[in-house]
Amino acid sequence: MKASIEKTDVAGKRVLMRVDFNVPLEEGAITDDRRIRMSLPGISSVLTRGGKLILMSHLGRPEGTGFESSGSLKLVAERLRELLPGTTVHFPSQDCVDDAAAAAVAACKPGEVVLLENLRFHKAEKKGDAAFAAKLAAYGDIYCNDAFGTAHRADASMVAVPQAMQGRPRVAGPLMAKEIQYLQTALQNAERPVVVILGGSKVSDKIGAIEHMGTKAGWLLIGGAMSYTLLKSMGRKVGKSLVEEKMLGTAKKLIEGFANSPVKGMVPVDHVCGKELAQGTPVQVVGDSIPDGWMGLDIGPETVSRYTKVIDDARTVVWNGPMGAFETVPFDAGTRAIARAVAGVTKRGGTTVVCGGDTAAAVAEFGVADQYSHVSTGGGASLELLEGRTFESLEVLDNA
Ligand code: AMP
Repeated sequence: MKASIEKTDVAGKRVLMRVDFNVPLEEGAITDDRRIRMSLPGISSVLTRGGKLILMSHLGRPEGTGFESSGSLKLVAERLRELLPGTTVHFPSQDCVDDAAAAAVAACKPGEVVLLENLRFHKAEKKGDAAFAAKLAAYGDIYCNDAFGTAHRADASMVAVPQAMQGRPRVAGPLMAKEIQYLQTALQNAERPVVVILGGSKVSDKIGAIEHMGTKAGWLLIGGAMSYTLLKSMGRKVGKSLVEEKMLGTAKKLIEGFANSPVKGMVPVDHVCGKELAQGTPVQVVGDSIPDGWMGLDIGPETVSRYTKVIDDARTVVWNGPMGAFETVPFDAGTRAIARAVAGVTKRGGTTVVCGGDTAAAVAEFGVADQYSHVSTGGGASLELLEGRTFESLEVLDNA
């Protein structure tokens, strides 16, 4: 277990906290502030105990050649002020390591926040540059990493900064700790039966997770567009469903591997098909073989029924990736049904983990996000944990 910020004495100290404020922006507004809200427990833990909080984050993918207004954290600073009424949130400068930023850090009082501007305005952040990291490291008496969404990256703020702060406390924030607890520790000792549900668009994205989770799970239920690459590799007709042609060989090996492994892999046995992926398109439910000119866009009712039976018996469920094109009615039904079935496992005292940006968005849209043990904020990071990888950004933190 990693040392935690909650158990670290922060009174009067400067806590340099890496958060993940990489929120979606559209037309100059934050469209989903979940990542900011998820960071609040860590933030409050420092502020209520009289720490001076220096927050750093990236946002989007700027060029790395200096300030760009479209990549500014200004809107995040404003949202943070709304979420922390009565707290002074300084947003001092267009550059996280210029004199103004350093002066704001030096002037920060206990219970106040300094939010540094987008780290990725410097190419040095992505490169993990030590000289850049040393400037950031000078801002903190304590390093805290609560940026799970970025945990799989070896950016300067994630690895080189804590390395430069050796000798000072380097701890995990509560969000990071919770994600690791559910996606790594809990899975190592998961209560059986373990059911892993994988969906989404591409088999190439999930192959590592399928292989690794295949060694942990009793059951592996596959849905989403990635099913069609697997089904085509098995010689099934898939019409004009999305297929990754270059993955057909790998998919075939994967399916053959399941035949000889203790994990029970299931692929959809029927499909809700449309002429195209659009609302109002003609729809039909078909069995094994999808006719020419039709696309499989959701798992069918028989698949839902078979998957639900398996999920109903589970004690641990990990779910990454929607079962269909859930954003478009009526292709949401399969994902909704699976969301309900997984929530049932939580109600019966089992452990349920939902991860991946689209799956988290789906359960939020269905209004059931609070019905799981944990909904992960991290897309890539959660997938890498399901692949059994470890992160440098975690290894560098102190053990409890
Ligand atoms: P991913 O980002 O790989 O998790 O994929 C999620 C996306 O896959 C969502 O936007 C879904 O709408 C889409 N999706 C899932 N199933 C299908 C399908 N059968 N056909 C087309 N798109 C799909």
